[in-house]
Amino acid sequence: FSAIGIDREVDQNEFTPGIEPQATWCPGCGDFGVLKALKGAMTELGKNPDEVFLVTGIGCSGKLSSYFESYGYHSIHGRSLPISRAAKLANPDLEVVAAGGDGDGYGIGGNHFMHTARENHDMVYIVFNNEIFGLTKGQTSPTSPKGHKSKTQPHGSAKDPIRPLSMSLSAGASYIARTAAVNPRQAKDIIVEAIEHDGFAHIDFLTQCPTWNKDAKQYVPYTDVQDSDEFELDVTDRRNASEVMYEAESRLAEGEVLTGRFYRDDRPSYGQEKRHTGEMPEVPLAERYFNDDYEWER
Ligand code: SF4
Repeated sequence: FSAIGIDREVDQNEFTPGIEPQATWCPGCGDFGVLKALKGAMTELGKNPDEVFLVTGIGCSGKLSSYFESYGYHSIHGRSLPISRAAKLANPDLEVVAAGGDGDGYGIGGNHFMHTARENHDMVYIVFNNEIFGLTKGQTSPTSPKGHKSKTQPHGSAKDPIRPLSMSLSAGASYIARTAAVNPRQAKDIIVEAIEHDGFAHIDFLTQCPTWNKDAKQYVPYTDVQDSDEFELDVTDRRNASEVMYEAESRLAEGEVLTGRFYRDDRPSYGQEKRHTGEMPEVPLAERYFNDDYEWER
């Protein structure tokens, strides 16, 4: 409402639903860490719930929109990104956050991920990466390590996992970071930066699943690449970022966790490009729709 000029009383910085649903995530689930970090980030930025649109896919992660007070859309498998893109283009003042699991985002929705990154839509995409499909009881996912045993791969996965950070860089994401549920302060800070970034901000969020991933890494100890003497990472240097990402992905398979900000590119977002070309009207669709006096072209 405030995004389209309608005043409404809001409880400042309150992102817990008035009638709080009982979270059905298992004890020890990393998803709690994402919720906590997201609430912390929105509060730090002074956002109101009615300025935020949270779109989720299918999976345990999809429940995030039920436990977070804002406009929300619990969508279908792998499709949180096209819905988010449309919302942002219609109402650029909305803070749009999409969230889903590694199966949802890197598997079923992999094509949307690639093109949303390429087009640099201005939004945040949080991928809960627990290296399995959790909601459907632990099947192998695109990020499951090679050799990982599950009900669908009882003899162990014969596939190498995808490299989400490198994939994101190749596709064209303009902000790329990895954090972990065990590190809520870093996670909150990264979400704040991602929201402030104008463009597609991808966060690979390591979330342990103690119920179905019995080999689950708890993602500790972790090393923040920004604090490490081993890496002299210039996040604006694509080649440098690529090398450190590759290292982080390789070491994760060996149980070593590297987190932090990996890449940032300040090129214009898709919405900015469209407005620049004149293809997209200066007055956003949402504003025109709610303005009774707006004269539509016929
Ligand atoms: Fe979390 Fe795994 Fe339980 Fe799902 S099944 S709520 S991912 S611990």
